[in-house]
Amino acid sequence: MLLRKLELYGFKSFADKTEVEFGPGITAIVGPNGSGKSNITDAIRWALGEQNIRNLRGAKVEDVIFAGSAKRRPLGVAEVSLVFDNSSGTLPLDFNEVTITRRVYRSGDSEYFINKAPCRLKDIHELLFDVGIGRDSLSVIGQNKIDEVLNAKAEERRLFFEEAAGITKYKHRKREALRKLEETEQNLVRVNDLIAEIH
Ligand code: ATP
Repeated sequence: MLLRKLELYGFKSFADKTEVEFGPGITAIVGPNGSGKSNITDAIRWALGEQNIRNLRGAKVEDVIFAGSAKRRPLGVAEVSLVFDNSSGTLPLDFNEVTITRRVYRSGDSEYFINKAPCRLKDIHELLFDVGIGRDSLSVIGQNKIDEVLNAKAEERRLFFEEAAGITKYKHRKREALRKLEETEQNLVRVNDLIAEIH
């Protein structure tokens, strides 16, 4: 499955609407220091659902919104769309092209869209989990990731292997199922209390 296009508006240094097209094969992005190369990978991670702003080299949610420059006022919204070629049907959606969009306002409100239809962050995570390009996946390797792997403790390093082997999504689903089980057990206790009161 090919990432065909990246569309940015108001994301970090990209104040104007910017489109980056990716063809088949390798794409290299070159530019002087500080010109925004890493901001492009940050945008991809962010649109894939990254929730930890520190992984995007920021401190607070609004750090991804264009903060203004000597000549331009700050913007109030950042939006990133990833356009995937889904003609191979890798994503379980009946569309040849799938667009995932994330938008955040300076108020902190976030919006997510799949093919322009509003959805939850959870829907994006679930869509991407199965194809191995989700939030915690190794599909984007940042500059410091290699050092992180080399310096990791044995247990931490195991998590990288689990992610690469595709186990993480099952661990995630197990956690979800256990949480629902716990909720159901709590509900049962409450129902039993009510029944006891009625008798
Ligand atoms: P290097 O080659 O040094 O790694 P780079 O090309 O990867 O650089 P980035 O780190 O992507 O560059 O971009 C850094 C630039 O983005 C800085 O000039 C910084 O001021 C700008 N920037 C980051 N966040 C924002 C923001 N919220 N608003 C405006 N500009 C921002």
